[in-house]
Amino acid sequence: MSEGRNRRWVLRARPRGEVTPDDLELIDLPVPSPGPGQVLVRNVYLTVDPANRIWMSDMDSYVAPVEVGEPMRGRTWGTVIESHHPGFRPGDVVTGGLAWEEYSVLDEPQAIPMELGLPLEAFTAPLGPTGMTAYWGLLDIGDPRPGETLVVSAAAGATGSVAGQIGKIRGCRVVGVAGGPEKCRFVTEELGFDACVDHRVGNVAEQLREACPDGIDVDFENVGGEVMDAVLGLVNHHARVVLCGMISTYNATGDWWSPRLFRNILFRRVRVQGLIVSDYLPRFGEALPVLANWVRQGRITYRTDVVDGIENAPHALRRIFEGRNIGKQLVRVSPG
Ligand code: NAP
Repeated sequence: MSEGRNRRWVLRARPRGEVTPDDLELIDLPVPSPGPGQVLVRNVYLTVDPANRIWMSDMDSYVAPVEVGEPMRGRTWGTVIESHHPGFRPGDVVTGGLAWEEYSVLDEPQAIPMELGLPLEAFTAPLGPTGMTAYWGLLDIGDPRPGETLVVSAAAGATGSVAGQIGKIRGCRVVGVAGGPEKCRFVTEELGFDACVDHRVGNVAEQLREACPDGIDVDFENVGGEVMDAVLGLVNHHARVVLCGMISTYNATGDWWSPRLFRNILFRRVRVQGLIVSDYLPRFGEALPVLANWVRQGRITYRTDVVDGIENAPHALRRIFEGRNIGKQLVRVSPG
């Protein structure tokens, strides 16, 4: 949060296992000047996400890795402070920045529809990429029907919290999996899930069996590992698995985890489909008014978990992998 300089995180090395302080470097640059057709944005929020860890590695994934020496990739929201773009004026709130930095020069910012009357935080969370992931993953891939049982892992997090609430709106019995009693209270008491299994207590399979007496029809999978194996043990015939993420394995140094109970996908005719939210970019505009209405009506509630200062971005990312965040983990880059 400084005038005259732009602090930016650069990838210095590909992490082996967990991200260490040697893997990223905070560098100081002058605040850039926008050219013709460009805007200068003072970033307010940076999102840190589990996928950041995937982008730091050079595995063959769904997107090009961040190259060593390049700025660390991550979406920002902020305020235009200088504009040479005919469509934007100073004071406009936009997104489009894709680096861990305090200021961004953008060619094609996207205006945030503040006229919807919701705070900027809402556009980073239930109306942002993770909300879109929950919406399209659950409704387009999961196809939940009233009375079915939906299980959502990482239920207190940004994506899971929204997926489960949409499941409730769709009339499902919704069971969350989360780490610790505080998160489980949040999931049942604030988000309105029917039950929550605490994976830190152990024996997830047994706890899930009790919470899902009619088996599992839809799995919104964010975690993989032991949690997903427990779900696969309980899936009903023709269940759907929305494979959204496998965070329990992103820090693996060898091969990623694979399910032990893969056979149940065959025996029970389960449909498993991977989800990459950017495939739905052309349809974000369809989901936005629906999600905004649900937020306004209080049918979707959300929390943001904010760490201050661009210098603390790696710390914010670590919080996600330590399970310390409740709701959307953000970095407040400037007061706005
Ligand atoms: P989040 O849920 O807000 O935060 C991640 C949570 O994962 C942590 O709070 C922690 O919750 C849990 N976790 C972390 N390490 C774990 C481990 N080793 N074992 C079990 N649980 C662990 O993050 P998010 O951004 O919403 O992402 C959730 C998942 O969705 C991730 O897998 C992410 O990659 C995926 N995602 C995918 C897409 C896509 O397009 N495919 C888009 C967005 C997100 P607990 O304390 O409750 O365990």
